[in-house]
This record gives sequence, C-alpha cells and structure tokens, in this order.
Amino acid sequence: MPDITSAIGRLVYNSRGSPAIEVDITVDCKYTGRVLAPSGASVGMHEAASFPKGGIKESLRILNENKEKILRLDPTDIESTHKTIKEIDPQPGYHIMGGSLAFAISIAAAEAAAKRSRQPLYKFLREHMPHVGDAAATLDTSKSAPYRFPFPLGNILGGGAHAGHGTPDIQEILICATGAKTIHDAIKTNLDVHAELRQVLQAKDADFSGGRGDEGGWAPKIDNEGALQAAAKACENLGFTLGREVSLGVDFASSTQWNKTKYVYDRAGFEHDHGEQLEFVSDMISRYDLIYAEDAVHEEAFEEMADLRARFPNVLIVADDLTVTNAEILKRAINSKSCNAAILKVNQAGGLYDALEFASVAARNDISLVTSHRSGESTDSHISHIGIATNSKMLKVGVVGGERMAKLNELLRLEQIMMTNDNSHIDENRDYDIMQHDLIQGMAEL
Ligand code: PGA
Ligand code: ZN
Repeated sequence: MPDITSAIGRLVYNSRGSPAIEVDITVDCKYTGRVLAPSGASVGMHEAASFPKGGIKESLRILNENKEKILRLDPTDIESTHKTIKEIDPQPGYHIMGGSLAFAISIAAAEAAAKRSRQPLYKFLREHMPHVGDAAATLDTSKSAPYRFPFPLGNILGGGAHAGHGTPDIQEILICATGAKTIHDAIKTNLDVHAELRQVLQAKDADFSGGRGDEGGWAPKIDNEGALQAAAKACENLGFTLGREVSLGVDFASSTQWNKTKYVYDRAGFEHDHGEQLEFVSDMISRYDLIYAEDAVHEEAFEEMADLRARFPNVLIVADDLTVTNAEILKRAINSKSCNAAILKVNQAGGLYDALEFASVAARNDISLVTSHRSGESTDSHISHIGIATNSKMLKVGVVGGERMAKLNELLRLEQIMMTNDNSHIDENRDYDIMQHDLIQGMAEL
C-alpha cells in the first residue's frame, strides 16, 4: 500500500560548511524521517559519486521529477526503496542522482516507517533486513541474536586531509575504551583521554592553540611519532594501560599519501616504498599496542594489506578506502585475505540496501564491521542505530563536537532505556514505544 505522503529535498550545510542535501520523507501525513547526507574529505576512488555533474541542484531536480515514483514505494521494504532508486538511477556509482540523494531517501524512508511502527530504528532495520546474496545465510539470521552496543571509537588527534599544514600525515589517532562495560563508561573514558591529551600537547608546545581538525581531534604541529607518544602519554597520565582499559588505533588513510607516479608514499620529509611502509606501520602497531590499523596501505594494495593481516592476526586490520562499502570489492578483499575488519559508511555505497548487502557479505565471512561517520557530518544519529542493527563491533564517530556527540548521545539514550526498562514515560510524542524496544544486552564482543 502506498503510504508515503510527501518527499521533500533541500540544500543545507554540513559540519564543514559545505553544501549538503537533506530529505524529509513523511508517511501517513504524520511520521517523518529526516536525513542529511554526510560527505568525506579522504574519498576512495571507487566510492559512489556524492552528486551528479550538475551538483545538488541536479539531485533536487531529479527528486522532484521522480516524486510520483517515490510516493509509491513501500517504506517498510528496504528492497522496494532500493528498486525505486535504481529505476531512477540504474548506473553503478549513482552518477545520475548522486549517492547523497540515494543515501537520504533510503534512510529517511526507513526512519519514517520505523516511527510509524513505533520501533527504534535499529530494531526496525534488523527486522526488515533485506535478503541479499545468499538468502539463507544473510544478516537476517541474526534476528534472534542479541543487540549489542558497538564500542565507540573516536579521533583524538588528527592530521592528513582533516587538518592543516604541519600536522601529522597519518590522518587519525583513535581511542577506544576497550575495558568499558557500559556505553556511558566508554564515552566518558574517551572524553577524558581527549581532554588529557590537550594538556600533554600544551606541555610539549606552549604555543599549541587548542585547534581541532574536521572530526574534533586535536590538530597540533607535530610529527607522527610525537603524536602517538602524546596520545600514549595521555592514557598513561590517567592511569590506563594500553591494551587494557583503553587501546589506540590509527587510520593511516594512506591513499592520501600515495604518489602513483613515483610509486612511493610521500611522507613529511621522506618517502616510503611498499616495504618501508609496511615496516613503518608494523613498528607503530608493535610499539603502541595498536588494536586497530585502518588503510595502512593505499586503496589498491590488496596484497600488502594481506601481508599485514598475516603479521598481526590479533589486530583489526581495517579496510576503508580499500573496500569503500562495496560488496563486490569486499569479496575480492576476502579472497585475498586482505582484512579482518571493514568500515561501513553508507554513503560510500550510496543507499541503505547497498550498505546492508556489504554488511551481509562481511557477516558471512567473519569480517568485523566498524560503522563510521564522515568528516563532513550532521547532527543526525541514524548511524548509531545502523551500527547496532549490523552487529558492528565499533562505531567510529569521534569524541567531541556537536555532530559527533549527537551519535554518542543517542547511544546514551538507548542505554538509559536498557538500564531502567521503564515504560512509564510512554507518550504520544516519543518516536518509539519502550515496549517495542528489544533490550540491548551490553557491549559488543571485541
Ligand atoms: P572522510 O575520512 O570522511 O574524510 O573520508 C574518514 C576516514 O577516512 O575514515
Ligand atoms: Zn578511513
């Protein structure tokens, strides 16, 4: 039954101040899903196109031109939404409508349908998980599996494409409160480390301005080694042991340093060939007990990633630009044993169905998922629910900043309901009934 009563798009701005598209989908004239599509700065070359050639204006024109089709889709059926989107833009990569529009329509439709059924989005997504790929073994077999909170993973010190000249060339140093038993503890610990790191950086350099990069991590003038030393010192000052209460990770975002012509990684002041890059990364993993290494080599270096995975079987060797939330590329990475974990960014794939297809391939092949924000974000919190629905081990959403906090605070709201199991606050204005809320059973298993 057609039940979408309106679909409206608009041009708005993201956390970086760049133009973005936002879509409202309303069901039964009453339940509205509203989604703003994020955007990245270190974009993988095989990602879906954010916008068509004509930019956001063209995406909005396509939305208006195809409104009738959108009004006819069934918002409770993620596959039906996908089919409609594919009718409008049959090309892989969403060059006609733009991946941002596919992202916003597909999540807004699901959110509106979830609100109508008075279910939290994570539960709606799990219960309406489309049958993708091998239907018998897709993610929806996990319907009966308990819901768990992914561990928040946040950027405490940033460089690369997210910060200015003089900052480290590795893009992100990440903190994860691996010893936390609750979401509240995990978030608070990450905040404490972020705050302590400022003191450490100021003690090293009295001129440090407290400036932050696009994702809220500190952006000091420091080299890679100094940055990791400072992060480790902040953890130590708080009485934490690396690998126990807290652990560090790094997103190397190596494609941003890969020089295709010279065939080397152009690092600040020196160059690395493939072998040197692997030594550079391995040395960092060993000396700082990293539990997480993302895009340690460039986006086409499947073999080198496999080498790293073999060297460090107990470290999350994470593919981001390598697999770009693309199910086919992930299959290639699985065949070549290039990673044991992968980033899930819905807008890299385009729409929600594409991303769930990726999650399904990951689940069938024991690849840990890390649902992630983009550096250009909004105050939306849908990805907190997507992280829970897809059994993600981690949710990479930063530590501070309104657009990052919005995702973390949503986890805190869900945790409060889980802790109190209290039905006394049900009222018409809530998005969902607590009764409809299958309880989340603690943190993911790392
Ligand atoms: P992006 O970076 O959102 O700027 O692409 C995030 C990442 O590389 O993980
Ligand atoms: Zn990355």
